[in-house]
Amino acid sequence: MGGQIKTQEYAYFKREIVPVEEANINIKTHAFQYGTGCFCGIRGYWNDEKQQFYLYRLKDHYERLYQSAKILMMNVGHSIEELIDITVSLVKKNQWKEHAYFRPILYKSDLSISPRLHDVGDDFAIYTIPLGDYLDVEKGLSCRVSSWTRLAENMIPTRAKASGGYINSALAKSEAMLDGYDEAIFLDSHGYVSEGSAENIFLVRNGKLITPQFSDSILEGITRRSVIHLAKKELGIEVEERSIGRSELYVSDEAFFCGTGVQLSWIREIDRRVIGDGKLGKIAGAIQKLYFDVVMGNQAGYEDWLTPVY
Ligand code: PMP
Repeated sequence: MGGQIKTQEYAYFKREIVPVEEANINIKTHAFQYGTGCFCGIRGYWNDEKQQFYLYRLKDHYERLYQSAKILMMNVGHSIEELIDITVSLVKKNQWKEHAYFRPILYKSDLSISPRLHDVGDDFAIYTIPLGDYLDVEKGLSCRVSSWTRLAENMIPTRAKASGGYINSALAKSEAMLDGYDEAIFLDSHGYVSEGSAENIFLVRNGKLITPQFSDSILEGITRRSVIHLAKKELGIEVEERSIGRSELYVSDEAFFCGTGVQLSWIREIDRRVIGDGKLGKIAGAIQKLYFDVVMGNQAGYEDWLTPVY
């Protein structure tokens, strides 16, 4: 950004910060064969006015990594405090002065055959890249309900942010994009609305926010949690966490996705039905504005959610 030429990126690999070119795995790696890993997606925001870099809800992301690790019988090998310190060190080493994304990954690193969880060693790594918007936050997205079903709890639990589970996301995302849509919306194995390929979904009906509950095969999203908090505490909006039928998408007044990558992106149409009046809705707009103020360190009262680096 700003015409700056980046000379070297650094990653955390095998308990050291190293040039990213040196952070490579063997092709025999268990996680490479079987998808036996779990990961985080974390954002950091550069506030030019304050000359500060804020990591967003780091502790919550690493607590969720612990949760994923438990489900997948993996050992993180670092305390949450250590993980936070390593991430902060990586920002400094990379000298980030622009928005960036962090991908911590815990993976089964043994060079062994047989898809199993027990008696296979784990390793932990983090890489980081500069990242602006992942989906357009201004335009309004066109979505389709996927012909692929969201993974059920007794297949690959979506509560774990498990590497192998993202085949399900990739199938839906490519189907949607190659058919001319921006994003997919999954139904779960009972036919209820679940989530997008890599983001949670919210609807607005009659001034209330509605979002699928945890038992509808969703990731326990940290942005989802932020949205619920901001809606209730800052805007006095009621939030229902419950099952949503496919047709309820069509008749909603507003709809939007939220997630670390997608941030808060509003939905313009679903299955060729225009949502509301086809414009950014009042509630989605208000939450989007609050969310960007919070992550940029411009909203008083949310310092607990931010780790300033410099
Ligand atoms: N669902 C899925 C499948 C995701 O990959 C993500 C992105 N991590 C989310 C929801 C949103 O979660 P978060 O807000 O914690 O990034």
